[in-house]
Amino acid sequence: MMAPVASELGIELRVLAESPEVCAAAVVPHSPVGDYTDLTALREFSRGVDVVTFDHEHVPTEHLRALLTDGVAVHPGPGALIHAQDKIAMRRAVDRLGLPNPRWAAVSSPAELHSFGEEAGWPVVLKTPRGGYDGKGVMLVEAHEVDSADVADWFRRAQDAGWTDGALLAEEKVEFSRELSALVARRPSGQIAAWEVAESIQVNSVCDEVIVPAPGLPEETAKAASDAARRIAEELDVTGVMAAELFETPGRGPGFLVNELAMRPHNSGHWTQDGSVTSQFEQHLRAVLDLPLGSTDRVAPVSVMKNFLGGSNPNLFAAYPSVMAEFPRAKIHTYGKSVREGRKVGHVNVTGSHDEVESLRRIARGAAEGIRDYPTREWD
Ligand code: ADP
Repeated sequence: MMAPVASELGIELRVLAESPEVCAAAVVPHSPVGDYTDLTALREFSRGVDVVTFDHEHVPTEHLRALLTDGVAVHPGPGALIHAQDKIAMRRAVDRLGLPNPRWAAVSSPAELHSFGEEAGWPVVLKTPRGGYDGKGVMLVEAHEVDSADVADWFRRAQDAGWTDGALLAEEKVEFSRELSALVARRPSGQIAAWEVAESIQVNSVCDEVIVPAPGLPEETAKAASDAARRIAEELDVTGVMAAELFETPGRGPGFLVNELAMRPHNSGHWTQDGSVTSQFEQHLRAVLDLPLGSTDRVAPVSVMKNFLGGSNPNLFAAYPSVMAEFPRAKIHTYGKSVREGRKVGHVNVTGSHDEVESLRRIARGAAEGIRDYPTREWD
């Protein structure tokens, strides 16, 4: 999704592809295949580029440090990126900045997990500090499950991998009213731009729908959330786009707690492709190249983004004639990925006015589900 804006700006993208089949390789002519955990491949790839950036957070920190030592510009740098790679490092940083965290502890044994649960209350949310996404790596643990095989298995994995001294992250189960996302971008020279705070609706721990601005969010909460994201970006020296995923907690703290950080264009920011003067993909490119940032003003009062995951329809294009005819306001974005059950394969953006939020949601849902389920969807 960065390729069209790179092309508009005359910026040449190169992708270190995991395989020749990855969807980015279809739109980026220079996409050598290589392993991002192999320093030799990273070094070879980095030769001749102005800046290295990421579309996921799993490149090993020590390799990024080696590239920096070689003189490669890496954005975000490893010192910032660690807070998106390692949830324990992130929790420590949020505490250090005095921003609102849930109760948490780094636990190294079932006994420590038990003590945390006794203090924070059951059930406890147990997380692998690294490698999780879309809810993989998040487990709800009741008091009687502390000695279960699943928990033991996670401790073993953390210890074998040597993540943050072999610890897992234990968090209180937060009573939140909804999830929010504060999206910002920052240049190496310090300029920051923030988009309006979004509501992000998750289904089975996967982002399903995003509404911007978050409907009914008190102004002071929105401002505090946006300020928190700016501060995190500044103090952790983040470069590029960063999403601060938040839990809305009316009446607790400033009205939200920090859940996690992502340092790259993020699903909660896909609405910007059609709803903002500058999309997150363009902004990320500008930011990592240390170019002046674009306006984050909305081009419509409200934007709705709805994801579609792989479903019963293997041929997304077959749905286009009927979906495009039925929903002319829907902007369809597909990723060129092969369709697999539950895999994110595209999203739909719709923009409009404040008094049509519910109908924008219906259009986005109708188009997304129409593509996913073609030809079986029954229209409501
Ligand atoms: P991932 O890295 O897989 O996205 P998250 O830490 O965002 O993992 O957790 C996935 C989902 O689990 C969140 O979107 C939220 O709905 C739920 N969750 C995570 N942490 C907590 C918590 N401490 N309390 C309540 N729910 C949580």
